[in-house]
Order: sequence, then C-alpha cells, then structure tokens
Amino acid sequence: RPIDVDIYHGKTRKRLDVVVVASLVDKIPNLGGLARTCEIFNIGAMTIASDKVLNDNGFLTAASSAERWIPLIVIPPVNVKEFVISYKKMGYTIVGLEQTQNSVEIKKYQFKEKIVIVLGNEKEGIPQELIDLIDHCVIIPQYGEVRSLNVHVSAAIMIWEAVNCILGNK
Ligand code: SAH
Repeated sequence: RPIDVDIYHGKTRKRLDVVVVASLVDKIPNLGGLARTCEIFNIGAMTIASDKVLNDNGFLTAASSAERWIPLIVIPPVNVKEFVISYKKMGYTIVGLEQTQNSVEIKKYQFKEKIVIVLGNEKEGIPQELIDLIDHCVIIPQYGEVRSLNVHVSAAIMIWEAVNCILGNK
C-alpha cells in the first residue's frame, strides 16, 4: 500500500498545514487512534516510525480506515531530530505536547498553521535533545493524582484545541 508523502496528495480537500509527529509513540492502539483523530480533524500529515503498522490488524481496527486518507510519513525515531530541523528550516513552528517547567497552558497557546506537533513516547515522553529544538511546549493542566494522560487522549485534546483556534471557532 502506498504511503502519501505529499501533504495535499491527490486530494481537492485542503488539509491544515499541521504535521503531527507520532514516530515516538510505541503502542499500536495509540497509533491507530491517532491516525483516526488526525484524519477526522484534517491534519496535513502524521509521521509513524514504520510502515509495518499498516499490516497490523490492531492498528487497522483502531484507525477505522483513516489510514486510507491521512497522509502518513515514515520517519523512524532516529530521524525525528533531522525531520524537525528540516521543518524548522521551512519556517514551521515546532510545538511539543509535554509536561515541562516551561510549558504553556493549552488554553493560553495561540495555535496557527505551519506547525509541527511533537508527541512523546508512552514511557519516556519527549527526549531532551528534541525538547531543545522545540519552540514551545504545551501542557494540559491536570487535577487528579495520576501523573500523565494517555498520549492519544492528550493529542486529541490538543488537536481539537488547535483546529478550533486555527479555524477561528470559539
Ligand atoms: N513522561 C510521562 C510519560 C509520558 S505520557 C510520565 O513520566 O508519566 C506520554 C505523552 O503524552 C507525553 O510525552 C506527552 O506528549 C503526552 N502527555 C500526557 N499528559 C500530558 C499533559 N498533561 N500535558 C501535555 N502532554 C501530555
């Protein structure tokens, strides 16, 4: 199955100029769910660590056919740094979804197009060498005891917020 590498590949539907980097995400159900969420909210492209997931029934079930529409770019974890640098050079703002000392609260962050959203690994989060390249980290405030949200859940909250901000919705 071919993988779209062009953000507007063969489609008249105009996607948002937003790239979601999911290459650090390990768990198949999270990846499938992310593909579905990205497709539904018109994200320009999503990166994945390997095209092997496209033959995985767990991925396909969670993606619910979204893999047919969302442009997927294969970027192995070792190449994420280089990928981020290349987008920075093209004028993209790099926004990390991460709990850090300097993270901006999601409601205060003004999302625009031409952004790359970096998601962290389920266990390790976003590695420091990538945090160093990121322009802004965004945090979702938590009020409970558990340390962090699931990566797909937090990404879905962020994508919903970003899309509404970009489209000028309330
Ligand atoms: N470092 C975390 C584990 C990562 S959670 C820990 O020590 O518990 C997996 C990913 O989900 C994170 O890298 C981040 O991208 C996202 N995430 C989870 N909760 C978040 C929150 N409250 N705000 C921002 N990002 C969050």
